[in-house]
Amino acid sequence: MDIYKILQMDTSIWDLFTCKEEYYPQLLDTYGRFPYYASKNRDIFMPKASQYLSEHGFSVEYPDNAPFAVCLTHDIDIIYESIRTKGHSAIRNLKRGNIPESLQGLYSLHSKKIPFCNFIDIMALEEQYNSKSTFFFMAENPEDQDYFYNIEDLGSEIGEIVDRGGEVGLHGGHTTFSDPEKMREKKKKLEKMLNRPVQGYRNHYLRFNVPSTWEYLKEAGFKYDSTLGYADCIGFRNGMCHPFRPFNIDSQSVIDIIEIPLIMMDMTFFNTYMRLNMNQAWELFLRVTQEIERCQGVLTILWHNNNLLNDWRKLYVKILEYCSKKNAWITNGNTICQWWDNEHSRN
Ligand SMILES: [Zn+2]
Repeated sequence: MDIYKILQMDTSIWDLFTCKEEYYPQLLDTYGRFPYYASKNRDIFMPKASQYLSEHGFSVEYPDNAPFAVCLTHDIDIIYESIRTKGHSAIRNLKRGNIPESLQGLYSLHSKKIPFCNFIDIMALEEQYNSKSTFFFMAENPEDQDYFYNIEDLGSEIGEIVDRGGEVGLHGGHTTFSDPEKMREKKKKLEKMLNRPVQGYRNHYLRFNVPSTWEYLKEAGFKYDSTLGYADCIGFRNGMCHPFRPFNIDSQSVIDIIEIPLIMMDMTFFNTYMRLNMNQAWELFLRVTQEIERCQGVLTILWHNNNLLNDWRKLYVKILEYCSKKNAWITNGNTICQWWDNEHSRN
C-alpha cells in the first residue's frame, strides 16, 4: 500500500503529514524549535493523518495480534544529580572531566549514592510488564553545552543494557540536529562504546529542523529518529501515530529513514509546559492512547531516567500497567523499526 498516494488525496492531510508549515516558520522558540503554539493545527490530540490512512484501508499487524504498540524510550541527560546539588565548583570540575579525588570515592559511577545511574532498575521495572526500552545516551565533549557525563565512563552500564535486551541510541546534543559533522562524530563515539552500529536517534530538547535533520540522520546512517513531537504539548505533531518515512517537499522525494513520532514526554505534562496535575495528566494519557488504539498506532513515550521517583514513578507504572492489560506490544525503538521495515518496506 502506497501511503503517500492516499495522503496526497487530501491537501490539508498532506500538508499536516509533511509538516509543511515548518518549512518557513513564522515563529520559533528560544531553542529554535517550532512550538505547538505556533502551529495552525488545533487538533493536536487527534492523529488525523493516521486516521485518514485507516479510513482508506491501511492496517497493521503486530506480533501476537497486539491491538497497538508502545515504543518506550528514555533520554539520559542527567546521571550525577547528587553532584549537581553539591554546588557549582563540583559541576565545573565534572565538566572539565576532573572530579576531585575527594569526590571520586563518594560518587563513583557504581555507587548507590548516584540516584540516576538507574538503568538496571528501569529495565527490571519494565520487564515486569514484559517490555523493553531504548536508552538514548549523549556522547558530548567537555566543551559542549549540557555536558553532564562522559559516555566513556559508562562502558559496563551500556554493556548491561545491551545484554538484557535493551537498546542504546544516540541523544544528540544541543546543536547536533543542525550539524551533520557533529552527528557523525557522536555516532562514532557511541559506537566505539557499543561495539555495534547505532540505529536510533533523538535530539536533546527535541530540537529538530524539518526536513534537514532527517536528511542529515539518513546521511549519517541512522535507521530511525524519534524526535518529532512537541515539547510544549502532548499529541501528534504531524497527525501520525504510525512510523513512516518522511517526505521532503523541497526535493519531492521520500527520505530513507524511519520516523517513530514522539507522542508524549514526561516533562510536557508538568513543569513549564502543560502544567497539569497528576489526574489531568492521566486523563490526557487515556484520551490520546485511546485514539492510538483506534488506529492500531504506536504510542511513543519519553520518560527521563531522573523522573522516576515519587508521583512521577507512580504515573509511569500506571501507564505501563494500562498498556500491559490492553495487551499492547511494548518494546524499544529498534524493534519497532525492524518490524516496520519488514511490514511496510516502502512507506
Ligand atoms: Zn535531553
